Amino acid sequence: MSSTHDTGFDSGHGHELNAGWFTEVFASHGSAFSLKVSEKLHEVQSPYQLLEVYATEAFGNLLTLDGCVMLTDRDNFLYHEMIAHPALFTHADPRRVVIIGGGDCGTLREVLRHPGVERVTQIDIDEEVTRASERFFPALTASNDDPRAELKFADGVKWIEAAAEDSIDVLIIDSTDPVGPAEGLFKTDFLRRCHRVLRPGGVLVQQSESPLYHSGSIIRELRHDMREAGFDSVATLPFPQPVYPSGWWSVTLAGKQGDVATFREADATAHELPLDYYTAEAHRGALALPPFMRRLLDEPHG
Ligand code: SAM
Repeated sequence: MSSTHDTGFDSGHGHELNAGWFTEVFASHGSAFSLKVSEKLHEVQSPYQLLEVYATEAFGNLLTLDGCVMLTDRDNFLYHEMIAHPALFTHADPRRVVIIGGGDCGTLREVLRHPGVERVTQIDIDEEVTRASERFFPALTASNDDPRAELKFADGVKWIEAAAEDSIDVLIIDSTDPVGPAEGLFKTDFLRRCHRVLRPGGVLVQQSESPLYHSGSIIRELRHDMREAGFDSVATLPFPQPVYPSGWWSVTLAGKQGDVATFREADATAHELPLDYYTAEAHRGALALPPFMRRLLDEPHG
């Protein structure tokens, strides 16, 4: 993830590999994150981004894009469970799911755990990410041959323009930061198109950066833009994510003719999915935003 500041993204973020440490610097927030690495396993410059894979001493393999940490073997479950399960247990009966981004396939794996889901289409702009994930993160791509899964490689901004109206139950935007190829995935026009393709009762979920660093900027703007785009309700759910800026991350849900502050608690409690972080209690707790976030989001009630 790259560094960010109130008026956008600081291109000053960078990464260094000194004395066996991979460090991602978030210059505008005066912080950085490091992992001890033992070797570099892979590097490819795709038409969209620089993709690198490192072997680390304590976090398994590490995937970076343009010098930003994307995921590690050790803690990607936090992000992949929280970008998938709150939205799926919020929707009344999710059958048709689309993931924009998500090329590492970890989110796809989580969505496919839901037996009621009939079809999942994943659209990532960069096929190199999926090919690298197949080689270096096989646990994430283990479900890719599920007959319900369809992988496409295209620009999600363009794909959504051509997608059929009222055709999707849950739309997951699992993208990189809102810079470069992902910038268009955070704009109101794109969110309007997301609203158009969702069926009534549909749920949109988007990774929404750090509650500590971005509540007064990116998260507040995203929630405003989601409402501008026609969504009736929004909810931001914070969760721990050690390898991302501030160690604390979030997803933001938006509902089309539905209240995303409520979810199928009985189903979220009774399920037998082999999860390591998501529970109905964790979901309920994440909906109870801390006072500092409510203030920065201008939201009296979460
Ligand atoms: N979990 C990671 C995080 O929060 O940073 C992101 C997961 S995944 C690696 C992010 C994906 O977004 C990348 O594979 C990238 O290729 C994809 N992406 C960026 N812009 C895109 C676009 N316009 N359309 C489709 N995929 C895009």
